[in-house]
Parts: sequence; structure tokens; C-alpha cells
Amino acid sequence: MGKKELSALFSANPDKYYKVALFDKVGFQRHKCIHCGKFFWSLVDRTVCPDHEVYGFLGNPPTSKRLDYIDTWKEVEKFFGSNEHTIINRYPVVCRWRDDLYYTIASIVDFQRVVENKVFFELPANPLVVPQMCVRFNDIENVGLSGRHYTTFCMIGQTCDADAEGGYWKDRCMDLDYQLLTKILGIDPKAITFVEDVWMGAGAFGYSLEYFVNGLELGNAVFTEFEGNENEYQTMKHRIIDMGAGLERFSWITMGTPTSYDCTFGPVINEMMSKTGTMLDKEILGSYFRFVSNALERSEVDLGALKATFVKEMKISFEDLNMIVNPFEAMYTIADHTRTLLFAISDGSIPSNVGGGYNLRVILRRALAILERLGWKFDLAEIADIHIEYLKRMYPELEEHVNDVRTILQIESNRYLGSKERMNSITSSIKGKKQSLSVDDLIRLYESDGITPEFLTESGAIESIPQAFYAKLSELHESHHSSHNLKPITGIEELQPTRMLYYEYDLMTESDAKILAIVENKYVILDQTIFYPRGGGQEPDTGDIEGIKVLDVIKQNDIVIHKVSSSKGLLSGKTVRIRINPRRRDLITKHHTATHIVNASARSILGPWVWQNSAFKDEDYARLDITHHSSLTREEIEGIERAANKVVRQDNPVIINTFDRIDAERNYSFRIYQGGVVPSGTVRIVNIKDWDVEACGGTHVNHTGEIGLIKIFRTERIQDGVVRLEFVAGEAAIDFVEKQDNQLNTISRVLGASKEKVVESVRKSVDEADETKRKLRAIVRKTLPSVMNTIFKDAKVISSDGIKLYSTHDEELDEDYYISLGETATQNDPSLIFVALIGKGQGVRVITFVGEVARKRIKAGDVAQQLSLTLGGSGGGNAAFGQGGGKFKHKIRETISSLEEMVSQTIGR
Ligand SMILES: [Zn+2]
Ligand SMILES: [Zn+2]
Repeated sequence: MGKKELSALFSANPDKYYKVALFDKVGFQRHKCIHCGKFFWSLVDRTVCPDHEVYGFLGNPPTSKRLDYIDTWKEVEKFFGSNEHTIINRYPVVCRWRDDLYYTIASIVDFQRVVENKVFFELPANPLVVPQMCVRFNDIENVGLSGRHYTTFCMIGQTCDADAEGGYWKDRCMDLDYQLLTKILGIDPKAITFVEDVWMGAGAFGYSLEYFVNGLELGNAVFTEFEGNENEYQTMKHRIIDMGAGLERFSWITMGTPTSYDCTFGPVINEMMSKTGTMLDKEILGSYFRFVSNALERSEVDLGALKATFVKEMKISFEDLNMIVNPFEAMYTIADHTRTLLFAISDGSIPSNVGGGYNLRVILRRALAILERLGWKFDLAEIADIHIEYLKRMYPELEEHVNDVRTILQIESNRYLGSKERMNSITSSIKGKKQSLSVDDLIRLYESDGITPEFLTESGAIESIPQAFYAKLSELHESHHSSHNLKPITGIEELQPTRMLYYEYDLMTESDAKILAIVENKYVILDQTIFYPRGGGQEPDTGDIEGIKVLDVIKQNDIVIHKVSSSKGLLSGKTVRIRINPRRRDLITKHHTATHIVNASARSILGPWVWQNSAFKDEDYARLDITHHSSLTREEIEGIERAANKVVRQDNPVIINTFDRIDAERNYSFRIYQGGVVPSGTVRIVNIKDWDVEACGGTHVNHTGEIGLIKIFRTERIQDGVVRLEFVAGEAAIDFVEKQDNQLNTISRVLGASKEKVVESVRKSVDEADETKRKLRAIVRKTLPSVMNTIFKDAKVISSDGIKLYSTHDEELDEDYYISLGETATQNDPSLIFVALIGKGQGVRVITFVGEVARKRIKAGDVAQQLSLTLGGSGGGNAAFGQGGGKFKHKIRETISSLEEMVSQTIGR
């Protein structure tokens, strides 16, 4: 169903859907816009809707109060609080509870949970108001320039379940919003317009009233009343009110400043002005931004074209305008981008080239490029500090993360500066080729080389940034994973859910079960099972059903499917004996609990941005990929391991309970979603007491002490923003340590040193080997003149103009010796061709040199290639030096004897 059809549906019956009690009470009349046909409600006679109206409040605010950003919120908070609303804290801007979103894009997202593709609403209080910071990256190029676009804004979310206790419906909602505008902000009712609109979501829809004051849209009250589609729908059991209003706009309407940034970022802009010594030309700046705001409100206009028009109207030069306006555009952009980074990093996200971190890196580099272009000498961390100082009255939690934000901004800024040289060389090559770059080219340059379009504009490689760039970039990186790659098994939909005995009795290794179905002769479905199916990164159990090997176990919805090697002898309806491999289960279980422990250890050692990116738990080892900005240092790895083993030694209890999701989130925060969102109304919570709490469906030990030992054996930065830790736990860790100890024993035996002195002894051996090499080199140097004489004596003249060939083969000395020999010999005799075949170790190495005179007739690389071919390998090189080799050691003599013939043929006699 399209928006148009919905609109028609509701507008056909305005009294039923749109007319709220307030309209009758105060006298709002319904009008139809003569331009666009939209319906709206107003106290005065109007012919056009606010879409075609200029911003009448700029320089002339229609409110009785002047409120900055924070004070505006304080008024809103007080108002709703005194009207029976619970004021709740904002949710994180990183949306961990929906796997189709990286960031919280609207206040209602806080309360939406997706279960089997259907959206459910879960309100922690009713009714409630939340100052929700929302992050959106679809309009980046307008941020800082338009006066009202942001990458982060605060949505005042007035949310209510109409049919739950304390709930209300549209009459009360509009009453309250109207009171807020008129009584609290002191706006003249005649300035308010309500516009009819519709809203559609996943499987639900409703109608809405947008409210405008003097051309500025302040809020939108959505009444989600129906579920289904236009042909078949019904009233929801719990109708939802979702009123969202921009705090930035509320503050703006009371101040009437040229841009909404002036009130939102007040102290931040002031501080930047004094840091940079930027002067304010109030008149030009004010009229320019008023001009832009109004033009943009009417339609989507190109900002470049707008500037040109403005310059003409004001009779000033383009340069003069830019000199006044550019620094402000820059400050607004930096203020916005830094604030977004501040919230995102505080809430556990970091700039990277993957996932949601992508957009953070885009804005961070954008801000850095601006600082650089204008030669401003302050860093983003300082700006973040001013934001925190200003916002802490509203968001006190930001103060906890001052250092985290500082660390990440520092690392990322250094990374940017470090890659600038390479970026410079790439851009100058683009400029040299005079290429014109498409949006796709720009995306590729950014993705593979980290080159931002700002950098390209700055260096003159491109003229301007195409409008489509940022939209396309975020489109590419908007939503994450879908892991449903297995083809579903059909024909089992009607079966009852499998009883999962592995949850009820974690030590049960044998049981009876009834076969409910056998599909394709290889998939067995039972009424109950002790087999843990592959899932949540945990490998499945192995074992047997009536002696028939179980190869794999998977879960499809609520049904566990056992893949068997053959279904011979198994019959539907028959009761069978099932057995799992207890040792395998035990090892996997220990690795699973160890993964939770290591994850929390990594977070405690490294920082709050550490989240599980993915995990894998098998019998013999486990691996955990975490989000982190850099490779781990030796100290960090040791710290993580030490913290993990401390938890093991403390023998903390592991408590597993099932909670309603809303309670689990409230009690334990969104940290529980380390393994991703759980798509059900209840969640199984694995609580390692005093250490880690996660929603998890895996098998776990009862006390951490059962794990015995955790040993991290490898870490690797597998991609930008993701570090992999590989470790062993339980018996696998003991095996690992034993193996290492055995290796150490062998080494100490070989060295003839005690284990305690192994390091010392190895160091000594290495020193001795170095010394031996040094001696050898000295011997070669000293004996070279006499060896040379032998070479010149033995070399055979093979052409009339005196070209000579010397060849040798050896099974003792290595190629280093022959390389220095050949090089010296051909330098001393430019007519010499030098060939050495070395049969040391496996196969044969070929070394060839050709002196400067002989080089005109034959190339060393060609000789090496020919010989290597004969020896069953390959080789090559340049005119002076060639090398290669082959595996036919028995052909050395044959090769040597064919050499003279081959060389003679090439040079011609
Ligand atoms: Zn209109
Ligand atoms: Zn788990």
C-alpha cells in the first residue's frame, strides 16, 4: 500500500481520524492547500500549507521565552513530568536491539523489537517522554551549511500505549502538545498549523498530525492504530502514540537565530570563534542564513546556486561572502560531527572501515580535513570536552567517557595524518591524468584508500563533491548481516517443537527419544534431544542414534534436525536410544564460557568499545573477534589473560535464567546482546556473577573454576576495527601448555642447557652463529684472490672474441658464497660467464652471472632459465644476474655438460 492510498483512506474521513477534541474546543478549521492539495487545520483563514511558507520566526521569535538548547529540554521535561509522564533516560545511539539498524534513528526505535519480521512495542513506562539522541547519515553534505541539518539531533519522544494502564489517545496527545506550545513556550495559537499526514511501518500504519509554527515543522504526532494492509487491516490491540519533536527546532523557534546551530551549539561555537579569532559579521551572516533557510524550506536547492543568487542580491563579491560565511559553516560542521562522535564513542562504537563505524570515520575525516584546510590549530577532543561540559546537565553519562572519547579521537586523527602522504601521491596522479571521477570512483577511493572527497576537492583533483556521494556511501553501509545462508529443510513445519533436553539436564549424555520424521533419508527429527545444535558460534554435538553416526545438528525455528550418515533401520514413530560424545560436549562448553569471560576481560582492559563481533567455540580451541581500534600489545594480551584466569580462580557461579526481554534489558543493559539481537519475547541470560552478563543459548559450566585455565595463543588484527583472539580453555589449555613444555624440553636437550637457562643459551647460540657468519665472510674475502685465479685459469674460451665460460657445482657451501664469488669474478673479467649449481639440501639452486662485455651476447637471466628448465624447475633474472632452481638433483652432471653447447649456440661462435 502506498502513501497516497493511505492518505486518501484517512482524508476521506477527517472527522473520524484527524479531528481531535482540541480543534472543536479552540476553533481550528480544516483547509485544503491550493498548491499541493494537502489538508491542514488552522485558526486563521489560510490558503496554503506551511510547506510553502518562509521561516517567519528568524530574527523575530514568536515565543514569550528565549531558551537555549538545555533550557528548552528542562521546560519540556518539567511540563510532561507534571502531566503524569515518566521521563526516561535516552537509549544508546548505537542500536544494539535491532539487527536491521546500526544507529537509533528515531525515538520510537527505542521501544521497537522485531520478532519474526513483526515489530512489537515495549514501553518501559506509560506514558513516557525520552530525550532521544538520534543519528542519521543521509544528509551529511547539508550539515553545517543549511542551518538545520544534523548528523545527530535530539528527538523529544512522547510515547504512549493507548490501551495499557495510564494510556491516552489522540485527544489528550494534541491537548498536551498544544499546551506545550502555547502555555509553556508562549506561542500565539494563530501561528500554529496542524497538517494531516500518514505513517507506514512494518505491518502497521496510522495517521499523523504534523505541527508547524511560522513555517517551521516542530513535531509530528503519529497515531499507529492499524495492523495489516489497506485491503485487510484491523485495529491494534495496543495502539501506539509516537510524537517526535526536534529539540533543536524547539530551541530555535524561541531564539530566532539565523541557524538552529547557534542555539544548539552555543558555547561550542563561541569557544571556536575565540580559538580561531573568527569575527562575526552579524548582518551579512544573518541575512545569508535566513536566505538559505527559506530557500531550502521551499524546495531542495543547490547551495552553490543559492550563494550565487545571494551575492547578486546583496551586491557583494563572492570572495567577501565566503570570507564571512565559510568559517561559520566550518564551525557548525565541526561542532555537529564532534557531537556525533562523542555520543557514538560513549555508547561503544568506534570509527572503522566496517559496519556502522564507517560513517563515523567519514565524519571524523571530514572534520579533520576542514581543520586542516583552514589551518585551525585545535583538536577535536577539545571540542568534545566543551560539548560534554555543556550537555552534562542533560546527559550526565557523557562525563564518564571523557578519556575514551579522547583516546579514540587521538588514534583516529593520527591515523589520518599518517596516511596523508600516500593520499597526496594518489591525488596528484589523478590530477596528472586529468581524470573525471564518478561517484563510484569516489566511493572506491574512499573505501580502498581512505581518501575523502573533501581531500580531493581541497587538492583540486575534483571541483566539488557530488550530492549523491554521502547518500550512496551510507546506503552501502546502512544495515548489517543476514546470516541465513542455509537452505531450509521443508516438510517439517507441522511438527511439534523439539524438547531441548540439553537445557534441562546439562549433564545428560544418553536418552531415549521418539522419531517424529525422517526427511530425504538423512535428516532425523525427534520429539526430544540431548544434541546441542550448531548455533551462536557453538559447534554441534556428535554422537549416535541407535549406533548410526550423527554428522551434524542444526536448528530450524524450534525444531532440532539431526543429520545422519544413513537412515537405515530408523523408522518414524520408533523409540530410539541417542548418545552424545560427552568429552566433546565438555570441551566445547568450557570454551563457550571462557569466551564470555575473555570478552569481558578484553572490555575491562581495552575499553568500552569492545564488543563481540563474532565467536566460534569448538572442541580444541575457541576464537573471539572483538571490535577494537589497533593490534593488541603484548601487555594488553597478558592483561586480558590474567583478568580471565583470575575469574577462573575465583570460581564465580554461572547463573542461567530466562527473563522477559524488557526486564533483561532493564536489569543488564544492552550489553547482553554481544551475540546479536535475540528475536523473541524472552531471553536466556547467562550471568557469570560479578563479571559478565549475556543473552546466550549455548551450553555453559556451572562455576568458572571448572574451566581450569585459559590460554590466549594468538591475536591478530583481522580487519580495520576488528581484532581476533584465539585461545584454549580447560583440558585443551592444559594440552597446549604441556605441548609447549615438551617443545621447551626438546630445545633444552638440543642446546644442552637446563630449561631455566634456555633463553640465555639460545641467545648465545644466535650470537655464535652470527660470529661464524662474520668469520666465513672474512675467510671468503681473504681467499678470494686465489679462488679468482683458479676461476680464470679453469674458464674455457668459447668464442673467437674471447668470451669465457666457468661452471662449477657444489654440495657444501651455500648460494651466498657463490653470489659474492660470481659477482666479483664477472667484475674482474667482463668477458666471463659464471655458472654455479648448488645441490645443498633438497633440489638444486642455479646462480648465473654475466660480465659486461659478454652481456651483449647473452643474458644471465636466460641462462638461469634454460638450466632451471633442464633441472625441472624455473628461473630468470636480468642481463647481469640470474637465479633459479629445479628438483632433479640427479641431472646436475648432465646439465653441466650440456651447458657449453647451450651457451655457444646462443652467442654464436
Ligand atoms: Zn501545500
Ligand atoms: Zn554465548
